[in-house]
Amino acid sequence: MKVVKEWMERGSRPTPILFVDLDGTIRHGKEELGRFVNRAADVKVFDGVPEVLALYKAAGWRIVAISNQGGIALNLVTAEDCAEAMLETYRQCGNVFDKMSYCSHHPDSPDPEYAICWCRKPRIGLLIIAALGLAEIYNEYYPPHLALFIGDRPEDKQCAENAGIEFMGAKTWRGYQLERGHDLVIADREKRVRAAGILRKSN
Ligand SMILES: [Mg+2]
Ligand SMILES: [Zn+2]
Repeated sequence: MKVVKEWMERGSRPTPILFVDLDGTIRHGKEELGRFVNRAADVKVFDGVPEVLALYKAAGWRIVAISNQGGIALNLVTAEDCAEAMLETYRQCGNVFDKMSYCSHHPDSPDPEYAICWCRKPRIGLLIIAALGLAEIYNEYYPPHLALFIGDRPEDKQCAENAGIEFMGAKTWRGYQLERGHDLVIADREKRVRAAGILRKSN
């Protein structure tokens, strides 16, 4: 019981978390490039996105990339090239990501080990793994009502819905930031910080 007591006394902070898709959301995807991002040299982060991510970071959010990279399972891209493209994305975004998670599986793979998984969006495996991992490191927890998911595809929206997380389309998110001078970030932050404060008081 001593362990349980220590664990309860340790406390844990409710923390907002921003889940972002990568291709077509944070970095140019097929629509902009005319092909998939396959290696570091292909990576081009959208204008203004690093600055917006920095605002979330400064407001106390965790930032996690959630990306389907099924090209690995289909042998269209190597795991090494994909990892290097992740690192380049991390650099171009000013090192703000707390975690970059990606699914390397695809249902069309002939190998069941690569075809069947818990993590390909719209499944929520990557979100759960990231949240549990960060919770261990930072002594935080991430209630879904404080989180926000940004993506450009129906599977992103479905993933957010499956996880009980608010969703916003990537173009809306990026456009809004540019037009409104980041109002949305601040509004969301205030809503979420308020909610976090209420949770803290009741503990
Ligand atoms: Mg995408
Ligand atoms: Zn997967």
